Amino acid sequence: ANAIVWFRNDLRLADHPALQAALDGGYAPIPVYIHAPEEEGDWAPGAAVLAWRHRSLAALDAELRRRGSRLRIFHAPSLQTLQTLAAACDAEAVFWNRRYEPAIEKRDTAVKAALRRQGLRAESFNGALLIEPWKLLNKQGDPYKVFTPFWRSAAAQLSLPSLRDAPATLPRVDDGPHGLPLDALGLAPALGWDAGFWERFEPGETGAQAALQAFAAGAVGEYLDERDRPDHAGTSRLSPHLHHGEIAPWRIAATLRALPPSAPQAQIDGYVRQLGWREFAYHLLHHFPHTPEQNLNPRFADFPWARVDERLREAWRHGRTGVPIVDAGMRELWHTGWMHNRVRMIVGSYLCKHIRYHWREGARWFWDTLVDADLANNTLGWQWIGGTGADAAPYFRIFNPVTQSEKFDPDAAYLGRWLPELARLPKDLRHAPWTQPSTLARLAPDYPRRPVVDLAQGREAALAAYKRVGGDR
Ligand code: FAD
Repeated sequence: ANAIVWFRNDLRLADHPALQAALDGGYAPIPVYIHAPEEEGDWAPGAAVLAWRHRSLAALDAELRRRGSRLRIFHAPSLQTLQTLAAACDAEAVFWNRRYEPAIEKRDTAVKAALRRQGLRAESFNGALLIEPWKLLNKQGDPYKVFTPFWRSAAAQLSLPSLRDAPATLPRVDDGPHGLPLDALGLAPALGWDAGFWERFEPGETGAQAALQAFAAGAVGEYLDERDRPDHAGTSRLSPHLHHGEIAPWRIAATLRALPPSAPQAQIDGYVRQLGWREFAYHLLHHFPHTPEQNLNPRFADFPWARVDERLREAWRHGRTGVPIVDAGMRELWHTGWMHNRVRMIVGSYLCKHIRYHWREGARWFWDTLVDADLANNTLGWQWIGGTGADAAPYFRIFNPVTQSEKFDPDAAYLGRWLPELARLPKDLRHAPWTQPSTLARLAPDYPRRPVVDLAQGREAALAAYKRVGGDR
């Protein structure tokens, strides 16, 4: 008998519980991908994620074909597509790996019920998380809102599934509609603004495994010391692969833990703990599904965010604020679809504190420009830096972007890489070039003369606003 395997954010063949369930059940799997962004509510995938997905789907289809199968692609409502296909291919079952975004959870629940009513076997599996969001509650029976106790409890009960390599061959099923060519979805940008992404990343399962191997052979050994340095490749850069499900998080953890004893365990544990933040983000999104839009901390309901000025917003988006570390980060994002975590915090702090825009402004821009844009992680990140979230940086803790820049990019190498117009400035002036206006005007005439929001004034205004909602230090 046949079974549809509905691929979503799990674009891989190894460690794929839904595919495995089909094979273990003696079914011939029919791999399917359905493009239905309108079913994702206000958070349909952004442009950078779609550009990645185009390549990831191509890679998945190639891997399936190498094994005798292939991916069928549709652009239509999910339920209707699955029903029609199941009828046309005589499929008895539909299997998929779960997603946890509120709109998708709702859709999937309805799809499962409808398929079952039709007499089909419909089952979903965990293909994305170390611990699913509803598995952990605190002693009072409530969801966790603080990371450390969450992770302590999660780490204590973590049991990683055993690794399953991709099947060597897959049966070929020819019945039923074959679907569309990938290009018909129009996911790849026509104008090629994504060229810089592929200098850094290789979408697909092979690229994901290669990134893991490179990290395991190198940076993991010094992860805790290097992870805050945007001028070094000190992190794994696995986030887009994880978002698209090209690798299972338990394979990452197991691979690192199996490294020879010469690899420092503390570094590996530190890295796995960072994967724990992703778990925490999914926990929060599941239990507080309103948080992509609204503050988790109700104190901020009446916070006096500044009104958006189009010019200022454009300056932030395109890396023209006059604060070099902010501008470098925003340009890295635009060029590569990714930004270093430390710099995400710095650009976010400048937006939410100095410029005092609602964190949603930042979250929306990241949503469209990040190749790893992920509703759970992005919401957690923005609520954290905005000071409105769970276990957040308190609002009054306002990053000084100059101090951050000097500390984490001490040789101004990251600034140099992304801000070529500062190349002629002495390195130690690059962190705060406005402090020597005549040198700036002479050696970097194309760079803004001063920050769009003065650092001291912005900080004072943010603290005053915070006082108005009853915040103190
Ligand atoms: P590594 O340091 O190698 O970490 C390994 C993995 O752990 C990451 O791939 C990621 O899956 C997870 N992880 C690490 N740090 C965090 C974190 N703070 N929160 C959640 N998961 C984490 N991450 C996204 O994947 N998608 C987003 O949309 C996103 N938006 C963010 C927005 C803001 C404002 C901030 C401050 C952070 C955001 N992050 C987001 C978290 C983090 O910046 C990225 O996961 C990280 O930079 C990815 O690089 P890496 O894979 O090299 O990280």
